[in-house]
Amino acid sequence: MTPPPSTSHESTAVDATDATAALPSILDLSRDKLTATMLELGEKKFRADQLWRSIYHETAPSFDDMSTLSKPFRKSLGEKYSISSLEQAMFLTSADGTTSKALYKLHDGELIETVLMRYESDGHRRNRKTACISTQAGCALGCTFCATGQQGFRRNLTVGEIVAQVIEMQRIAHREDEVQMSEGKRTKGELQGVTNVVFMGMGEPLANYRNMMAAIKVLNDGQGLNIGARHITVSTVGLIPQILQLADEELQINLAISLHAPDNATRSQTMPINQRYPVEELIRACHKYADKTKRRIFFEYVLLKEQNDSIEQAQKLGRLLNGLHCHVNLIPVNPTKEGPFERTDLSAAKLFQGGLKQYGIPSTVRMEKGIDINAGCGQLRERAIDILGA
Ligand code: SAH
Ligand code: SF4
Repeated sequence: MTPPPSTSHESTAVDATDATAALPSILDLSRDKLTATMLELGEKKFRADQLWRSIYHETAPSFDDMSTLSKPFRKSLGEKYSISSLEQAMFLTSADGTTSKALYKLHDGELIETVLMRYESDGHRRNRKTACISTQAGCALGCTFCATGQQGFRRNLTVGEIVAQVIEMQRIAHREDEVQMSEGKRTKGELQGVTNVVFMGMGEPLANYRNMMAAIKVLNDGQGLNIGARHITVSTVGLIPQILQLADEELQINLAISLHAPDNATRSQTMPINQRYPVEELIRACHKYADKTKRRIFFEYVLLKEQNDSIEQAQKLGRLLNGLHCHVNLIPVNPTKEGPFERTDLSAAKLFQGGLKQYGIPSTVRMEKGIDINAGCGQLRERAIDILGA
């Protein structure tokens, strides 16, 4: 299937924020480690706190921009560390302006994608800006409808590479807030920035568990990016041991499970991981997670035409999820280059929703944002490789 044509604003400019990628990234240090390192360098603790604020709250693009720090301190930091090693290779914004997608080149040439989605207040919820971030370059799990899965696994991202994506999106969001302030559309001094983070970009977050957890800790820090745990969502293909591990972390984050089928026969056709962790075991783990955390679980269900979208399959899903505190997101597939699947149309998606409702399972049909910029997982990289030969 050919990806839909693009695009509105396109740029291939390289981000000049930090050209010293050969140095270790300071974003790889936890807050405790950063403080300890600064103390070792003879700095006071409050200097480490100032540095942390400059990096994560002010999102200063270089050490030189950190005006609260002394010049010699800035110089010595610049000799030891880089900030972000993400080099922007492509940046697209959808025609309706709601969705932007960046393709970043890592220091070793790997390509990853990050998306920023803008939502207007809908009466219930305030304005939001959601960063959708990657945790791996590629993915080993091979779901057949997924462009990342079709590309195979490259490597895990470091903590710094995960966090840097949010910093980049925060800079964009802050610039937009400033424009709105200058136009009188937002109260002066009120930078909102990124409000939500979803781990739904390239890769399987729970297969890079340690770095994902360390990144969540950084994102969550109140003196930095200050993304509340309830505004963070981790999406998984369904790795049971890690789901159970996550249940023990006592975090208030949201968990989303990519289910995409109501039974083993159907799920195994598109998701090889189902051979290892079959549906009934996965749902049992979800019950344990929900009991332990008292949190509602989100299920993602990509609607694939004539594969998993019949009314009988909706009813089967309803029975499967019966008794679980959950919400189902129904997402008509974003067709990929090599995948054989077509999107379920909106009326069929509504019928599916009706089937779930018969069993009291709440759901939302999510028409994906940014279809015109290949915003589906892994699709921009796929396209860039076609264009850039990268
Ligand atoms: N590996 C994790 C997170 C990244 S994928 C996971 O699979 O959950 C994030 C979501 O995008 C998953 O629910 C995934 O199934 C979905 N997705 C992948 N390819 C898609 C496509 N072509 N159209 C719509 N959703 C897709
Ligand atoms: Fe990997 Fe998620 Fe894509 Fe499956 S859907 S191949 S788990 S990124």
